[in-house]
Amino acid sequence: MNKIYVVGIGPGTYEQMTVKAAEVLRECNVIVGYTVYVDLLREHFQGKEFLTTPMRQEARRCEMAFEEALKGRKAAIVCSGDAGIYGMAGLMYEVGAKYPEVEIEIVPGVTAALGGAAVLGAPVSHDCCLISLSDLLTPWETIEKRIQSAAEADFVICLYNPSSKKRSDYLKRACILMLEYKSKDTVCGIVKNIAREGEEMHILTLEELKDTGVDMFSTVFIGNADTKVIGGRMITPRGYCYERE
Ligand code: SAH
Repeated sequence: MNKIYVVGIGPGTYEQMTVKAAEVLRECNVIVGYTVYVDLLREHFQGKEFLTTPMRQEARRCEMAFEEALKGRKAAIVCSGDAGIYGMAGLMYEVGAKYPEVEIEIVPGVTAALGGAAVLGAPVSHDCCLISLSDLLTPWETIEKRIQSAAEADFVICLYNPSSKKRSDYLKRACILMLEYKSKDTVCGIVKNIAREGEEMHILTLEELKDTGVDMFSTVFIGNADTKVIGGRMITPRGYCYERE
């Protein structure tokens, strides 16, 4: 049976890709993806055929991968981070209903929340929620409700897609909602370009975050009531007993 791999390539550098993802890509003839991610792969997977589509052509990209598999080629479709987290794994199964002769295998990857957490310290060591601020596919009212509920339940919150040209004030709006339940001193972190050139991290309070601009290459972390700064890192204690001797 023909098979397609749906591969999460991790947040950036080759080193943060899983061994399984690298092995699968090495065995493929053709790799399909969004231009920016494919460019991250080219130097490590020379000799492969790369097929790209611009952003917003996700369904077309999936079909391209199935068409390649039907030709008998070993095909992979790649997503940054993990393909199941705001990626194309679900869409591949939906489009795949039209191609029952092709099997799908998902290869997990390191998602931005985990790559970014490692840069900040240990911000997600307790219960956390991932929320995307993109309202392209989700109504803003739903996003608001989820932000409020997560803040009320004192989850650590990781915000994906925190900004874009059209949505420059969404992070501010999200912070105002969270401030209804979380203290203004809540420890927050921003990580930009995780595992990529220009990686940067900042730790700040929720009040400061409200007035901070971020771009779409950033992931934003909002701590819970116990999150603190230790040695310049953002730490959410899990609750182990520890007293300095
Ligand atoms: N499937 C991806 C998420 C895609 S949504 C994953 O699992 O990581 C795109 C959003 O993810 C971006 O707007 C940003 O918030 C976050 N993101 C993805 N890669 C990132 C990186 N290298 N550095 C910072 N944020 C990243």
